[in-house]
Order: sequence, then structure tokens, then C-alpha cells
Amino acid sequence: MARNSPPPADTGARIFRSEEELAQLPASERIRYRLVAAERRYHANDNIAAFVRAGEVEELKAEVQARMQELLRALVIDTDSDHNTNETAQRVAKMYVDEVFRGRYVPMPAVTEFPNAERLNELMIVGPITVRSACSHHMCPIFGRVWIGILPNEHSNLIGLSKYARICDWIMSRPQIQEEAVTMLANELQQRVRPDGLAIVMEADHFCMHWRGVKDTDTAMVNSVMRGAFLKDANLRREFLSLLPRKRTA
Ligand SMILES: [Zn+2]
Repeated sequence: MARNSPPPADTGARIFRSEEELAQLPASERIRYRLVAAERRYHANDNIAAFVRAGEVEELKAEVQARMQELLRALVIDTDSDHNTNETAQRVAKMYVDEVFRGRYVPMPAVTEFPNAERLNELMIVGPITVRSACSHHMCPIFGRVWIGILPNEHSNLIGLSKYARICDWIMSRPQIQEEAVTMLANELQQRVRPDGLAIVMEADHFCMHWRGVKDTDTAMVNSVMRGAFLKDANLRREFLSLLPRKRTA
């Protein structure tokens, strides 16, 4: 509801804005306003789809394009006469919003869960799942592989094998930090599948290490999350790790 009185002088108070007032703002400001009002975190690896309205992703893309054009200008690149960079701002905006950071702006892919009718209780391994992400520190690509170990119980929900890859892709398609990415993936799967044990291993190349800084070309980063039975049972943990066809060991 619109409030016509001027905003309170107390700067600590939240300034209420109606949807009509919000409509005057750029989409990014509008979305930020909703996030702040709901006291929701909006870090680089958070999904904010619930706060993005229809059509606003297109508006965001136009904003990112304009800012990217500013960035190229700040880098003193003549995008007018340089045919290679002429449409770079547009391409990068599309790449960020529709592709590599898409996992921030769209809801989780639909996943059908079905009951564990066969009462499967054997270790199940899914992987390797190819991972494409970007580091939050430099926005450089991260390429890697993920393995998921599940120890279901009779009450667990099962999800189709391809769905693990889709959930993984949704979480990785954001600027990420590898340790946080595997924890986010574990939380999502734990909530959906509710297994007795959950294990995740991620091994990835971080291009900020290859392209810049130390220019180290051999280092890969390995992270793991072990929950439930995988934490308590060293044999189960060993069995899972021994089944991963990896070159490096954690
Ligand atoms: Zn980095």
C-alpha cells in the first residue's frame, strides 16, 4: 500500500516503497529493495529467484550490458571502431545472466522424488558430474568434477540420476567458492533425499590460478563433505573414496 507521507527522519527506519515507486527504479534496485525488506542474504552464490518478477531478468541483462560497456570504456578500449569488441558488452551480459550465473536468477529445476519402494540401502555413487562455475574472487572459470555418494534408507526419497547433475549445475552456475559450493549441494540433497549418509567430493581447476597470480598450471583443489553414516563409518567412507576413479587423492 502506498504511503504518501514523507519518509521518517529516523534513518534507521525502513523506508516503505510502493510497487509504483519501485517501478521507477532500475530492476537491480527493485530486486535489492525486496531482498533487503525480506532480510534475505544476496551474496554471489545465493539464489534470488523468489525476488525476481517476470520480465526483470531481461531488464537486468540490459543494465549489465550498460555497466559492461562502462567497464570497457574504463579499460580504454575503443569499442566503436574495434569490431571485435563492438558487441562484447551485450555478449558478456547475456553470458552472465543467461548462462554462467543463471543459477542465481532461476528457481531450482523441478525434481520428482519417488519413495524408496525397493528399500535400497546400498551405497550409490553418482559421478563424475562435470562442473562449470566461476570463482567469486576473480570471476574466473572453475572446471571440475563432482562425485556424490548416497546411502539411502527405507524412508529416503530417490531422485532420477540426471537430476543430481541438474541440481549440481544450478548451484554451480553462480560465482562460487568451492568449499561453499559443496556445502550448498550437500544441503540441497540432504533435504530432498534424506539419506542415512551423504558424501560429496569435488575436484576442480581454478583458472584464477592458471591465468593470473602464480600461474600454477598443475594445482587442482579437492573438497569433500561427509555426513551421517559417512562421518561415523570409516569403512563406508573408504569404500566411497576407493570407488572414485580419480588421479589425485584427497
Ligand atoms: Zn579466484
